[in-house]
Amino acid sequence: MKCQECGETLKVHRRCRQVRLKCSGCQKEYQIHEVAADLDRETEMELERFTCIIYD
Ligand SMILES: [Zn+2]
Repeated sequence: MKCQECGETLKVHRRCRQVRLKCSGCQKEYQIHEVAADLDRETEMELERFTCIIYD
């Protein structure tokens, strides 16, 4: 999963009851729904571990 801004890798980042994807390059954070259409399988599998969390 790549950042739309700089192309660096996005990391799944858990914060309290929220999950974000955070760029390891420019530190931009994405809400899950912002990138839902572009999620790759690897990122989806990581997110599945957080299914108890509400995606806001
Ligand atoms: Zn970035």
